[in-house]
Amino acid sequence: MFGRAPKKSDNTRYYEILGVSKNASQDDLKKAYKKAAIKNHPDKGGDPEKFKELAQAYEVLSDPEKREIYDQYGEDALKEGMGGGAGAHDPFDIFQSFFGASNPFGGGGSSRGRRQRRGEDVIHPLKVSLEDLYSGTAKKLSLSRNVICSKCKGKGSKSGASMKCSGCQGSGVKVSIRHLGPSMIQQMQHSCNECKGTGETINDKDRCPQCKGEKVVQEKKVLEVIVEKGMQNGQRITFPGEADEAPDTVTGDIVFVLQQKEHPKFKRKGDDLFYEYTLSLTEALCGFQFILTHLDGRQLLIKSNPGEVVKPDQFKAINDEGMPMYQRPFMRGKMYIHFTVEFPDSLTPEQCKALEAVLPPRTSSQMTDMELDECEETTLHDVNIEEEMRRKQAQAQAQEAYDEDDEGHGGAQRVQCAQQ
Ligand SMILES: [Zn+2]
Ligand SMILES: [Zn+2]
Repeated sequence: MFGRAPKKSDNTRYYEILGVSKNASQDDLKKAYKKAAIKNHPDKGGDPEKFKELAQAYEVLSDPEKREIYDQYGEDALKEGMGGGAGAHDPFDIFQSFFGASNPFGGGGSSRGRRQRRGEDVIHPLKVSLEDLYSGTAKKLSLSRNVICSKCKGKGSKSGASMKCSGCQGSGVKVSIRHLGPSMIQQMQHSCNECKGTGETINDKDRCPQCKGEKVVQEKKVLEVIVEKGMQNGQRITFPGEADEAPDTVTGDIVFVLQQKEHPKFKRKGDDLFYEYTLSLTEALCGFQFILTHLDGRQLLIKSNPGEVVKPDQFKAINDEGMPMYQRPFMRGKMYIHFTVEFPDSLTPEQCKALEAVLPPRTSSQMTDMELDECEETTLHDVNIEEEMRRKQAQAQAQEAYDEDDEGHGGAQRVQCAQQ
């Protein structure tokens, strides 16, 4: 199935992983592996991927036959089966065989299984209101999850026995080959579908009656999520080890990600709150007061200073009425109030006269008739400027797309040529 003369592939990576030269002796390899494997052991918080790579590199280079194949043809040749398969062994087995039964970390030998991989974390969005984030709350959530079957202790069988999966010869993975060209093949590994990647099957008669050989059963569980004062949109609340259980697996976490619902009145920016308020022209000119209901239901009296005029788009701030700070809830941000001023659409001549009597005089009255005679008449009409700008932008984009399309043909041809 594979070409008789394998392509040369990378044959230095394993040396680099162990940090040794190409002519390292068996002794050098042992020392290098020992040092690195202890440092990178997942039990000590090391990266499991790195630990696996180290074992793989050591397994190949410490076997003179495999090392020769590797030096000559590289990694792919080993994967293709010439040397009996690289990385066929569990990295923890290799580590164990190196150190024997003794625990290289000294003291308190860990009794948990050697083959522990980490299960996936389960992530749930959790909708909360701004009020929840302001005052804090607790939410009870019912979830169903897989737990190890109590009857068979996760073995899946009555006897505790299992057989090698015939679909993958017990490796848990199947390899498929794609021909990319006359001299190129691509190998793809995927989890075995017959045994779900476990590498084993259970005899029908021996199946555990409680879990039907699945090793796990579903369980309902209620979690109480504490939303603390001042938490943010997107913040994660983690329940370690509460995700789906699986045999020989360190259970992952359940993670709730807070999603703040839009508030009809308040916007939050960091620890500050923003509130929109519209004043009538009279209120803006002659003073105002109103009641603002805060997120915890308190009623705040908001009023202008005597004689003060509020201009359109003006902001005012109240100290310590913003959001509480996370884990320092006695500290609070500011509340900003943004004022919009509503002007009347039209005035009667009498209203104008009354206003002119009290407001500063208009500048237009200082023009002479002579000056006016020399001017051209114009007509002002109403526009919605945002709509107008949007339309113009859309036009410009359409034109741009049209221009690009024109150039596009040439570009596509160039790509085609390069592929031939
Ligand atoms: Zn069972
Ligand atoms: Zn299988």
